[in-house]
Amino acid sequence: MSKTIIVSNRLPISLRHRNGKFEFKPSAGGLATGLGSIYKEGENIWIGWPGNTVDDPEQRAEIILELHDLKMAPVFLSKADVEEFYEGFSNETLWPAFHYFTQYMVYNPDHWEAYKRVNRKFCDAILKKAGPEDTIWVHDYQLLLLPQMLREALPNATIAFFQHIPFPSYEIIRMIPWRKQLLEGICGADLIGFHTYDDMRHFLSAVGRITGLSNESGYIQAENRIINVDSFPMGIDYDKFAKQAKSRKTQNIVKEFRKQVGDQKMLLTIDRLDYSKGIPQRIEVFDQLLKQHKELHGKVSMLMIVVPSRDKVQSYKELKEEIDTLVGRINSEYSTLNWVPIHYFYRSFPFEELSAFYSMSDIALVTPLRDGMNLVCKEYVASKTDQTGVLVLSEMAGASKELQDAILVNPNDRQGVVDAIFSALSMPEEEQKYRIKSMQESLKKYDVFQWVKVFMDRVDHVKVKQSELD
Ligand code: UDP
Repeated sequence: MSKTIIVSNRLPISLRHRNGKFEFKPSAGGLATGLGSIYKEGENIWIGWPGNTVDDPEQRAEIILELHDLKMAPVFLSKADVEEFYEGFSNETLWPAFHYFTQYMVYNPDHWEAYKRVNRKFCDAILKKAGPEDTIWVHDYQLLLLPQMLREALPNATIAFFQHIPFPSYEIIRMIPWRKQLLEGICGADLIGFHTYDDMRHFLSAVGRITGLSNESGYIQAENRIINVDSFPMGIDYDKFAKQAKSRKTQNIVKEFRKQVGDQKMLLTIDRLDYSKGIPQRIEVFDQLLKQHKELHGKVSMLMIVVPSRDKVQSYKELKEEIDTLVGRINSEYSTLNWVPIHYFYRSFPFEELSAFYSMSDIALVTPLRDGMNLVCKEYVASKTDQTGVLVLSEMAGASKELQDAILVNPNDRQGVVDAIFSALSMPEEEQKYRIKSMQESLKKYDVFQWVKVFMDRVDHVKVKQSELD
């Protein structure tokens, strides 16, 4: 019997060393939940890095055993791997390139060598577990070379790849010195998925121009097989968010929070610390709103959650300082004894509190400069159980392709975003309900479980199509 292997850079757990023993905390993220329906079945398994560097062979053996019970297998990365492959090539070359931040791209041949080395490490770990007819689903930009490495070792395996971040225009891809190897690496797969149609088009165009492989109607003609490329917009665990928002626990937290902020309008923003999210730009927009609309002083405030991320990387450190300075300047300029314009938190929150923030906020302001999908905006919509609330959403987020009933904005058009917030603040309740309801219907239908199902069904379909052409 063949099995399915999920592969991603990080395993869906976090590992902590406490009192001489390892503790494993399962991730509650949407992807982990969605893929749970696969890797927890039968002989299936999830392979990836547990997130810590562990050099001691005894400790490694302990982790292997514990993970085995959770249907996972670890790939151990050394400190140099983490620095050069993960923080280096993945996060300082591919991440900025794929998000159109070419000014942050680092071209370091040592990082490239590490990227190849670690993709090979993943391949070796998979080959210890995989049979010749298995299905292997590889996730994301840290593992672009892996599909082709696997193809060479297992020519008959079913290999799928999904990229969770944007795929940029050929003009950006061509800047990367190792572009051809990267594209050939992905093309080891039978099915290649992106969040949006535009990402898919960019990929096909880059493959055509850089590798010379032609395509027709979403099928690339490779040497000895066809490869399907398509868009599969990822959903959320809709029911989980809707249910939590209705729960007594969350509603009690909402009451408590509301007691503290009164009946002012709350504008919610939630992001991981990242330059792609446009956080300073958004604070400046809020400043502009307060400058232009003095009547809003004391009546609206921004609830800004920034989740710490990659803060060892210099550009992220600088971004954090920029945000701190901007918030300080605006709060010191406008605050009164009973009003603070920006409530700023640099930390993450437990699920119930996150749900309360979604539930109590009048507007969610989601304005990334570039984002593969963006789940925060979907979670906000799912949490509005009374269907009031307004989503202001950047056109540069993949989610904007689905959430057409949001107020869509170009985050670079500051006055446009100011005007969008202003009209959101005065949107009649009837219109709010109409828009939220329509977005909820599509998010409920295309949730993360449906996403997994549609993708896996397509994998089967591609294999049938290949065998018909043989
Ligand atoms: N999130 C979280 N804790 C927090 C704030 C946010 O777990 O305190 C989650 C949020 O629920 C969402 C994810 O972080 O699922 C962010 O995903 P998104 O796609 O919006 O952005 P990414 O960080 O993947 O770029």
